[in-house]
Amino acid sequence: MNNGLGQEEHTEHDLFHALASSVKDQMLGSWRETRTKDGHYRTKQVAYLSLEFLMGRALGNALLNLELTDESRQVLSQYAIGLEALEELEHDAGLGNGGLGRLAACFLDSCASMDLAVTGYGIRYEYGMFAQKIVDGYQVERPDRWLRDGNPWEVRVPNHNVIVPFFGHTESYIDKGGRRNVIWVDTQDVMAVAYDMPVPGYRNGRINTLRLWKSEATDDFDLTEFNQGDYTEAVARKNLAEQITMVLYPNDASENGKELRLRQQYFLSSASLQDLLNNWVSQHGTDFSGFAKANVMQLNDTHPSVAVPELMRLLVDHYFLEWDQAWEITSNTMAYTNHTLLPEALERWPVRMFQQMLPRILEIIYEINARYLDDVAHHWPGDSEMLAKMSIIEEGCEPHVRMAYLAIVASFSVNGVAGLHTQLLTSGLFKEFYALWPEKFNNRTNGVTPRRWLAHCNPKLTEVLIKRLGGEWVKDLKHLHALNAFTEDKSLLEEWRAVKLANKRELSVMIAKECGVEFVPSMMFDVQVKRIHEYKRQLLNILHVIHLYQKTITAISEGKTDKLVPRCVLIGGKAAPGYAMAKLLIKLANNLAHMVNSDLDVTPYLRFAFLPNYNVSAMEKICPATDLSQQISTAGKEASGTGNMKFMMNGALTIGTLDGANIEMLEEVGEENFFLFGLDAQEVKLLQPNYQPEDFIKQSPALQQVMGLLESGHFNLQEPGIFEPIIESIKSPNDPWMTAADFESYRLAQERVEDAYKESNSWTQMSIRNTACSGRFSSDVTIAGYRDKIWRA
Ligand SMILES: *Cc1c(COP(=O)(O)O)cnc(C)c1O
Repeated sequence: MNNGLGQEEHTEHDLFHALASSVKDQMLGSWRETRTKDGHYRTKQVAYLSLEFLMGRALGNALLNLELTDESRQVLSQYAIGLEALEELEHDAGLGNGGLGRLAACFLDSCASMDLAVTGYGIRYEYGMFAQKIVDGYQVERPDRWLRDGNPWEVRVPNHNVIVPFFGHTESYIDKGGRRNVIWVDTQDVMAVAYDMPVPGYRNGRINTLRLWKSEATDDFDLTEFNQGDYTEAVARKNLAEQITMVLYPNDASENGKELRLRQQYFLSSASLQDLLNNWVSQHGTDFSGFAKANVMQLNDTHPSVAVPELMRLLVDHYFLEWDQAWEITSNTMAYTNHTLLPEALERWPVRMFQQMLPRILEIIYEINARYLDDVAHHWPGDSEMLAKMSIIEEGCEPHVRMAYLAIVASFSVNGVAGLHTQLLTSGLFKEFYALWPEKFNNRTNGVTPRRWLAHCNPKLTEVLIKRLGGEWVKDLKHLHALNAFTEDKSLLEEWRAVKLANKRELSVMIAKECGVEFVPSMMFDVQVKRIHEYKRQLLNILHVIHLYQKTITAISEGKTDKLVPRCVLIGGKAAPGYAMAKLLIKLANNLAHMVNSDLDVTPYLRFAFLPNYNVSAMEKICPATDLSQQISTAGKEASGTGNMKFMMNGALTIGTLDGANIEMLEEVGEENFFLFGLDAQEVKLLQPNYQPEDFIKQSPALQQVMGLLESGHFNLQEPGIFEPIIESIKSPNDPWMTAADFESYRLAQERVEDAYKESNSWTQMSIRNTACSGRFSSDVTIAGYRDKIWRA
């Protein structure tokens, strides 16, 4: 443990790198053994393909899983810095936007901890998710140069380099055996260089791999250009190649259609599949008959779905398999996870873009489509409308490739990420596919890893849990159920409250530093942190804070402040840089915060802060300190949510709609331990066609008052009119998020929260029950489902 940790290390940063490097070095042996073992035993290999892995920091998690925390603390005792402070020096690996990317990270931890041979394949973005600053209340994006000080965890493995082709055109020829082969020529080739990150399992000796690809110019590419004497062209093209993995697209739940994004998708898919096939060929030669039994590729949304035609290309063009044999392999190895029902998030790429950038891939997509449409025609004879509706190619003046359809056609498994979501997929968006292939569809409710999201992020609660229950729950979270037997135990209630209070104190230090707002630990901590999106309805929360502000002022003027339940409200999250409405919501939150926090009569009862740069390491401090978790999306819009689960695990109570995994959380913990409100998915759908927000505003005096204050310009005296788009959206009969419709029900649920919070004992009991019932939302449970029902690993 001492290597690299000599007295000559003086800066704290050097110390962090020395400790991280030493932890990585300790993993090298087991890492090699894991690879050997997986190769030797011929266990089924799973490749988890994802454009995003929102890993956060690695040190604390690695120490926990490798059982090195105490030893590290001892080694550090001779230095002026403690372990926690040292952990804070690590840059977050922010290679993802939000839930989808964090899910991939939780899955990697669960797979390694459950001794599964799963490799994550992703992109080594030079710039991860942008850093968010707030200037004059507005979001400002700053580049995230997370690799600036080096990445102590990664290992560059140049012996796994592969070449990925772009552009060019195709030619066909008849070979000696009389077979027509296609070659893709005059391509602009890019080199994919592998960087491996270790993924340690929880105290089981397994070290899995997250393999991230970096794009580089190929050497001979440069050479030809140099030989023609065109030096500047050569350098410019080198830049083009290196651009591919330069930056993560910061869009959550919306596609943006940029050409570079498709390049990233193909780059990842091609590099990963070539790597898998090279691996296979090195062990089995070019006999692929056993490949499908030994391999499965899980596609994290459609982002890597161009892997479908790419696998066909590699098998048919490079290894000369017949189409049918290649299709048998492809359609028995691909599995697709859908993450959203929002139409704006469904990826469609212009055929024109494929034609230019990936001409061979487009030919293969056409062939897949033609053969598949034969099946459709068989199933619905004479129904040409159905053919157009289900075609992978969407016709029109600009034809598009529907990536979700491509993924469904080629996959043996299609899954949603929560019960309601899967139900809505099979009865709505994909209902024709469900009619054609019901056996493909299944549900795998998301989960979060209890290692990072309880054992690591909440050491004080962990100590209490271990004292009562032992430590089995870290590996099998169902053991937390035993807590339900202790809800009458006065000493547990005391300890539980003390832990929450201490965690709130720690969070308030961070909030003071980041927001300049003092959160008082004795007040209720009410939190909504997640990407800013209209469907997640941060606006509903903001309107309610305005209501609390008015209610507080009224109570003060009437001398009835004893009825108020003091609370601190926190909102945090990033808006996609091109999403104007989301950015405006951030501005409104900040202006409102300023108004609330500068009224010293109000602040004893209400404080409000917007936390800049919400990310994984911020969430690790936030969820252990939260009393009330807001999960208030319009029903039917949030596929699952995972933030909701992190809060529940850490004993927060939820105020939420019947959406995503909230429904399953409510089932587990019971209605009496959950603050439910709002329309359900079916009611939303029914109300939509003749929605009249003005009726809802008229029927709610509270909402009327809130709208009055907002419309008066009270929160934007310096910038008149800026919040008009928000006001209009609330009042629009076309508001898909139905904010006005749910306001009153939300407000009443918030009153129930206040009544419940006043009863400290029963609140604590409810908190304990939430933790106790959170076992089903361990990603270990989710992964057990993938393992048994999809991967058959
Ligand atoms: C868990 C998590 C998310 C997902 O949160 P939702 O509330 O499910 O949208 C997003 N970002 C970060 C940093 C997270 O840790």
